[in-house]
Amino acid sequence: MRRINVCPICSSGELSHHSEVIDHSISKEKFTLSQCLNCDFLFTNPQPKAGDLWKYYESVDYVSHSKTSQGFINYWYRRVQKLNLQLKYNALKYYVPRGTWLDYGAGGGDFVRFISQKRINIIGLEPSETARINAHKDGIKLKPTEYLNSIENESLACITLWHVLEHIHNFQEVVTSLLYKLQSGGLLVFALPNHLSYDSQIYGANWAALDVPRHLWHFTQTDIQNIATQHSLTLVKTKGMLFDSFYVSLLSEKYQSGSKIKGFWNGLVSNLKASKEQNPFSSQIYVLRK
Ligand SMILES: [Zn+2]
Repeated sequence: MRRINVCPICSSGELSHHSEVIDHSISKEKFTLSQCLNCDFLFTNPQPKAGDLWKYYESVDYVSHSKTSQGFINYWYRRVQKLNLQLKYNALKYYVPRGTWLDYGAGGGDFVRFISQKRINIIGLEPSETARINAHKDGIKLKPTEYLNSIENESLACITLWHVLEHIHNFQEVVTSLLYKLQSGGLLVFALPNHLSYDSQIYGANWAALDVPRHLWHFTQTDIQNIATQHSLTLVKTKGMLFDSFYVSLLSEKYQSGSKIKGFWNGLVSNLKASKEQNPFSSQIYVLRK
């Protein structure tokens, strides 16, 4: 395990014990969250080392890497996935300049295929070899993340990380290396869960989007704003991911043996509160401009 003694956003060494969270989906192990006393950044601490993290991904339940439609929640996830792809594209299309896109952490490659079908040139990078092989079977070509080094500097129009940044140990370094590849005026786009959402507050330590230890970092909009300032980026838009609140609430109910109806209800209330700006959405898209 790797203990973090300094906040990776503000470099403060003053960290507090926040809470204990169980990995419900795979290992059933207990993990601790720390919070920075200076900037409020929340993160899993200690974290499994990069070489050990793979153990916590080996599950057929990890839907973003598999194509299985078994079970009600996976069925729901597959149904809304198409709508979700359109929602992601709509969040960007009016802001992105002409040029090649890059999807970093492309998973099963669905976004890469969706964008290719719009006759936009897009490169998909994915660290998991299993995910790359599965994508290849579906006719989607993904490259390992090291391929980033061979992309020309300042050549990309848009770089997307859909629920990816929270999985990366050295996220600040990765953001820096991605920005080298982005042209001036290009977009860096993150989708991330937000633990200040209503559904997070309802489920507390059972909130499924904490997803320890796969989620190393638990970002809020303030954190993203701070990161943007550090890298001289402008936050041009945020957008709620309307379907994630339902998916996450259903999964959270499953972890505490609750009901599907309650899960749907809490997902709906979360979206309504977020629309009225009482809370952030369960998951948000952040569009940043270089
Ligand atoms: Zn901090």
